[in-house]
Amino acid sequence: MLKFNLNNKVAIVTGASSGIGKAIAIGLAEAGADIVCVARRNCADTISEIEKLGREAIYVSADLSELKSIDGIVNAALHKFGKIDILVNNAGTIRREEALDFSVKDWDDVMNLNLRTLFFLSQRVAKEFVKQKCKGKIINIASMLSYQGGIRVVSYTSSKSGVLGITKALANEWAKMGINVNAIAPGYVITDNTEALRKDEKRYKEILDRIPAGRWADPEDMKGTAVFLASDASDYIHGCTIPVDGGWLAR
Ligand code: NAD
Repeated sequence: MLKFNLNNKVAIVTGASSGIGKAIAIGLAEAGADIVCVARRNCADTISEIEKLGREAIYVSADLSELKSIDGIVNAALHKFGKIDILVNNAGTIRREEALDFSVKDWDDVMNLNLRTLFFLSQRVAKEFVKQKCKGKIINIASMLSYQGGIRVVSYTSSKSGVLGITKALANEWAKMGINVNAIAPGYVITDNTEALRKDEKRYKEILDRIPAGRWADPEDMKGTAVFLASDASDYIHGCTIPVDGGWLAR
């Protein structure tokens, strides 16, 4: 089991204030890592949970829709912990509108955060991994809409399909440097992101009826796969997107 522990590892988790990012930040800390929690708003809850585990955590305030936030994140991590071992690209957003009426803003807001920043933050952190001459782990958060089309979410589907592609593209170039790039594709998870969907009783029931596990996911369901992909146990896994979906894709 030693291969699964994250003792003495430092992880950056974006969007760590809520939902899946919060659960993954706490999960990595439970496995032994110290955490750099990146979010637009306060991460007090996440940090207090991590500190209760005896691990260290810092909060870096950043608006990831802008690339200029990237240097601040990496510098804060290095200033506090002296190194980076793991990056979890979790922050993401969604806009819902008919494709015929979709605005440039709703396209750009989603693509910039979900794909453009994900790439340039990964590139910046990978340069650090190379400089540190150590192995590195990058975990992207994909979606069922990395595989399926979805309805009224054209920029989200485009961005998350891009996450599946970029995970393979970066793995092809960086595997030889000891950097593992992989992704988790969550199924339907109870978070702020899906609040509107869950309030629509008809859609909620339709989705529930299609999930073989018979329940929506809790953010905690993502912890195990995140720890695995962050740990030495996954050293020979490159470019994979692992669905954590209660069987949704198997249907
Ligand atoms: P959430 O709304 O709770 O979390 C989104 C996180 O991203 C928040 O912490 C938020 O502060 C952060 N964020 C948003 N815009 C940001 C910005 N401009 N700068 C910095 N941080 C920003 O929702 P969630 O469901 O936990 O989403 C986390 C990830 O999981 C997203 O990438 C989402 O697309 C993905 N996902 C969610 C589901 C689901 O069912 N909830 C399914 C598949 C994938």
